[in-house]
Amino acid sequence: MDVIVGGGVVGLSVAWRLARAGRPVTVVDPAPASGASHAAAGMLAPVSEVTYTEAPLLRLGVASLRRWPAFAAELAADAGLGDPRTGLDLRSEGTLDVAFGADDLVALDELAAYMDKLGLPVERLTGRECRRLEPMLAPSVRGGLLAPGDAWVDPRRVTAALLAALERLDVPLVREHATGLLREDAGRDGTGDGDDGDRAGRGSMGGDRPGLSGGTGGGSGGRVVGVRLRDAPDISADRVILAAGAWSAELADVPVRPVKGQIMRLRSPQPLLGRCVRGTVHGASVYLVPRGDGELVVGATQEEMGFDTRVTAGGLYELLRDARELVPGVTELEVADVVAGLRPGTPDNLPLIGPSGTPGLTLATGHHRGGVLLAPLTAAVLLGEESEAATLCSPARFRDIS
Ligand code: FAD
Repeated sequence: MDVIVGGGVVGLSVAWRLARAGRPVTVVDPAPASGASHAAAGMLAPVSEVTYTEAPLLRLGVASLRRWPAFAAELAADAGLGDPRTGLDLRSEGTLDVAFGADDLVALDELAAYMDKLGLPVERLTGRECRRLEPMLAPSVRGGLLAPGDAWVDPRRVTAALLAALERLDVPLVREHATGLLREDAGRDGTGDGDDGDRAGRGSMGGDRPGLSGGTGGGSGGRVVGVRLRDAPDISADRVILAAGAWSAELADVPVRPVKGQIMRLRSPQPLLGRCVRGTVHGASVYLVPRGDGELVVGATQEEMGFDTRVTAGGLYELLRDARELVPGVTELEVADVVAGLRPGTPDNLPLIGPSGTPGLTLATGHHRGGVLLAPLTAAVLLGEESEAATLCSPARFRDIS
């Protein structure tokens, strides 16, 4: 049996696809869908998010976006939701990236030239053309880039649908906190939490930390054979899939760190925008994502603050200040929700998907800014359906430096 630790969009997607393929699966999470996936805006926007240094991430994003329509249709059906457009708020009207000041316009032109070189399908628009598409944009918007193939989805609906689909497939969800990974005894008495023979039967907490190095540094740890829970008996597993997002490094030796993002949800009687609008306002970026029910998501800060999830006045001020420059009408809207989430960042911004250096432990973590976008691809990699992505995301790339 596979035990998946972490029930965010990544862990739940992997669980659902594995269960659908007939594999026995259990998910462990004390509070499923409460992590970064609860905060996320849900942009499926590999083209408009492209940066000069992240060509591999672009390839992954494009491959995963291609999978989204079928993934959403099957998920909506399995969860009993019907049409994914209404059930998951999956929309595909594209992203409009706009520039506010003269410097922002220069940066946008450079980005357009780079996208052109990559052969990405984007259209360069004047300020007037932008406002024709989105009449609520400020008159001062100077120009834009339309990425017509980009899409977006409501991540909260996606995780709710995944939980419903898993329930319908009778996949056990253990609402417990995993405190450690159990190792097969490799010939030495376990240390750490001590004798657990009565609880797991074959595992101990002793030895090196499992992870990329595989516990080969002269320690005792063998194969990962299960999960220790805080308030319940241990669970044995043939394979543990670590999908604990920003908290993954608490359980294994993986280069994953929390990257804080503050984001707000505003409520409007009618949708203010017809598509996602991203913008650069004097160098700072902000995005606005419309939901079908009139909600407008405004995000997001990127802060290296450890596990701090406080929502700060300064963070919200910056978001609203920049959003108002692009779409002045946002200040009229009711504030529905403000949250801070922790993105699981890695040193190269690519996720870690696949076998770790320790037998019995597989990783599905480190999705940083794109876990919603990359969820279908992640499940496909673990099902052996995506060899190029499997190579790009292989945890082995960090093995020498762990
Ligand atoms: P999480 O959703 O954080 O889930 C991890 C789960 O693990 C949690 O449910 C937690 O309870 C559980 N867990 C942790 N420790 C343990 C333990 N010891 N035992 C058991 N369970 C445990 N991505 C996009 O693609 N598009 C976007 O537009 C986008 N916008 C974002 C905006 C913000 C403000 C933020 C913060 C992120 C955004 N992201 C976006 C990134 C995206 O949210 C993440 O990449 C994605 O949610 C990661 O999913 P996950 O399942 O790995 O982690």
